[in-house]
Amino acid sequence: MIDITATQRKEKTNAQLEQQRMTKITIARGDGIGPEIMDATLSILEAAGAEIETEEIEVGEKVYLSGNSAGISNEAWEVIRRNKIFLKAPITTPQGGGYKSLNVTTRKSLGLFANVRPCTSLHPFVSTKHPNMDVVIIRENEEDLYAGIEHQQTQEVVQCLKLISVPGCKKIIRYAFEYATAYDRKKVTCFTKDNIMKQTDGLFHKVFDEIAMDYPQIESEHWIVDIGAAKLADTPEAFDVVVMPNLYGDVLSDVSAQIAGSVGLAGSANIGKECAMFEAIHGSAPRRAGQNMANPSGLLQGAIMMLNHIGQSAVAEKIQNAWLKTIEDGVHTYDIYKEGISKQKVGTKEFAQAVIDNLGENPNTLSAVSYGDETLIHIPHYQRQKAPKKELVGVDIFVDWGGEYPGDLAHKLQMLNNDSVELTMITNRGVKVWPNGFDETFCTDHWRCRFTGKKEKQIDKKDIVSILQQSILMEIDTIKTENLYTFDGNRAYSLGQGQ
Ligand code: NAD
Repeated sequence: MIDITATQRKEKTNAQLEQQRMTKITIARGDGIGPEIMDATLSILEAAGAEIETEEIEVGEKVYLSGNSAGISNEAWEVIRRNKIFLKAPITTPQGGGYKSLNVTTRKSLGLFANVRPCTSLHPFVSTKHPNMDVVIIRENEEDLYAGIEHQQTQEVVQCLKLISVPGCKKIIRYAFEYATAYDRKKVTCFTKDNIMKQTDGLFHKVFDEIAMDYPQIESEHWIVDIGAAKLADTPEAFDVVVMPNLYGDVLSDVSAQIAGSVGLAGSANIGKECAMFEAIHGSAPRRAGQNMANPSGLLQGAIMMLNHIGQSAVAEKIQNAWLKTIEDGVHTYDIYKEGISKQKVGTKEFAQAVIDNLGENPNTLSAVSYGDETLIHIPHYQRQKAPKKELVGVDIFVDWGGEYPGDLAHKLQMLNNDSVELTMITNRGVKVWPNGFDETFCTDHWRCRFTGKKEKQIDKKDIVSILQQSILMEIDTIKTENLYTFDGNRAYSLGQGQ
């Protein structure tokens, strides 16, 4: 038995208390400039007194190239899931097929549905055409085209499925309004392309309009993404919080960060119910690696969001104000260095040291931040509503056919008509080519052939099986089917263009 003295007992208790105070986080140094900006960021966090204990995992290029196509081992997943908070430096996805993006996999596997990317200009200390820009992009993080479900079914055509769900829309849009409320933002804007994608983007827009009604104190508006993007790039000060589906958010958050000053300045928080991941928005910039050149600010901004998330707002505030002061002092890395504005061009390490030297100081011209208490955003648990009446009213049968005249294909397919269903339309890449198509329409080998219930009646799945069986006998190359439904009597599939 070991006898411990009272002093030792006290020391042990202090050590235990210290341990308890510490939040354990997972870190990954990543690839390219990743290790340098991670070291710089951690040195600032340590100097500022962040109460964190780090557990390091290996992810990225080395893991990919060792033959793991996911870029992450099962053991690393265990560490991430146990610690729940993950600070990740950028990683390199090797070129070529076969490697899935680890960033996308991590966000989706851990249910990190909200990607928050604040883009604020630092005028007059960082050159920008938009001195008053202060926009937060809230990007849906789990679905859309990033489902990554792609197929080639004919010689000429490949496809990617765009999946948008009711719970996905509800979570991210409610998050955007809750974020606006928590951070005293005045307006939430939604970007979609629902004039074209009426089902998918249409759902996102519809849920936005519904949820906006719960927040009458916050202004809400919708823009079609193309003109919205043009306006955002030209007049960002017209926007406050902007929420959008995954792909648009990916593109426009890079645009926003760049026009605010540099992609090297923006951080990103990926928030889920259980876990959260924090990172820079930029990539691993391999050409800049190992030269002590990269700007560590993006990852540092991610780390500041992490400190706020884990309730260490006082440390977060201290670091942010020291960082603002450093930017204001004109101590700049190459990406934001500009003759006449900047005072000193520094490397990654020197920049980090300048931030450390400024800990405890506030900026003079830029607004100092005051984070107050932690601002955790709670999203209500999703409740599935009473199921609507779902009726099968037809089927789109996709056919691989190398012929030229849609009328020839229609002639063949009409032989598949039966007592319940009949061929009503053929489209090629979405545009109607039969009946009454135009000779000018260019056609590929990928044909959507729509069979619907006679007299718009409900059909049976057996009718679909029967069509498919017949088509095998007739050597028609059917490549996939999509059932056509109505929900509570409302058509839930798109018409052909020109229909
Ligand atoms: P990138 O963001 O890595 O770099 C683009 C350019 O931006 C660089 O050449 C550099 O000039 C500048 N830049 C980026 N970060 C900077 C910083 N911190 N300081 C100074 N300058 C900086 O984009 P890329 O070249 O298209 O991608 C490189 C790799 O990163 C690819 O393998 C890509 O898949 C990966 N990537 C990873 C993440 C992530 O891990 N979250 C995100 C995007 C891209």
